[in-house]
Amino acid sequence: MAHFKLDNVEDLYEIRQVLGSGHFGQVREVCERATGIVWAGKFLMLRRGAGSRLGLERASVEKEVEILQSLQHQNIMALHDVFESKAEVVLIVELIQGGELFDFIAEKESLTETDAIKFLKQILEGVNYMHSKHVGHFDLKPENIMMSDKQVPNPNIKIIDFGMAHCFLQGVEYRSTGGTPQYIAPEIINFEPLNTAADMWSIGVITYILLSGLSPFQGDTNEETLKNIVELKYEFEPHYFSQTSSMAKDFIQKLLVKEQSERMTAEECLIHPWIKPLTRTQLAKRNRSSINIKNFRMFNAKRKWKMSYNMVSACNRLCKLKLVCKSSALEKQDLRDCESDQEGTETKTSSLLRRRLSNSS
Ligand code: ATP
Repeated sequence: MAHFKLDNVEDLYEIRQVLGSGHFGQVREVCERATGIVWAGKFLMLRRGAGSRLGLERASVEKEVEILQSLQHQNIMALHDVFESKAEVVLIVELIQGGELFDFIAEKESLTETDAIKFLKQILEGVNYMHSKHVGHFDLKPENIMMSDKQVPNPNIKIIDFGMAHCFLQGVEYRSTGGTPQYIAPEIINFEPLNTAADMWSIGVITYILLSGLSPFQGDTNEETLKNIVELKYEFEPHYFSQTSSMAKDFIQKLLVKEQSERMTAEECLIHPWIKPLTRTQLAKRNRSSINIKNFRMFNAKRKWKMSYNMVSACNRLCKLKLVCKSSALEKQDLRDCESDQEGTETKTSSLLRRRLSNSS
């Protein structure tokens, strides 16, 4: 059992403004009183009892902590300290000030593939490192790819949120149904044994979106999206990919592969000619090609709108609960309840589809 510090986090850190929130809690800026260093504090509500649906199991927080402790890489958010009280665990992590990569890109007038690759390469380096440590992230998506500081000329990519990550032990099978429909690999939907290749699928989806502003498998409903994934139903619509190089398409095609063992690994991606051109011609082609920034901006605006909508729905549900609940301790718990319900919907959707697909085959 992992040992977390039992001190009151507020004695050692000044708790400041909210930076973001997830299904099980908030992330806030915190300042270490002894040093004046500013960090981010991820406050995770713990489940109170075996029968409770609220909050996270301690074992799942321990898993996230142990994984973060095992990873030290410039493209992966660093863990500094961990505190525990009866009700929550607080992860003190590196403060990431540059926001999400996709928001940064959406502010650009134009972006060549070469520029986009500077970011993609860092994602691949972080992922290659974690895979070399037998860790799979299992929730790679634009929201979890942040930038250290967007004011500097070459900002660092930081991969965050290891809440769904898993460290593989030799000979031990692992299955999971969690994840975000647009980005999950077919083996997750089919509830097959997983390996780190699932992350490479998500990188294929992220790259596709980055280049075109389209989401390759997006359907009108989650069920339709998941069905498109298991049927590998996607194409490079010429209208959206007119500025895309053939090397970029080849890169994506080698990631959106159903068979896990045939999918490119992060190590292989880093030496794919699109990422690491071998000839001047390849380099020139890449420099001439650009991302579909206009459509990308539209995709990003819709994505942000959806995120705010989810947040507002959670708040509305909280307000309704407030009418019957006056205690501030309970209010905090209820917010997390609302948020964990959203995750439940996603997981239920995928397991529902899996059952349907297996019944029909
Ligand atoms: P989810 O419900 O998506 O699994 P979570 O509860 O695990 O989320 P995170 O995704 O880790 O929480 O963080 C939630 C949000 O907080 C992020 O989307 C981001 O905006 C912000 N955030 C997370 N970590 C940091 C950090 N180190 N520095 C600054 N902001 C952060």
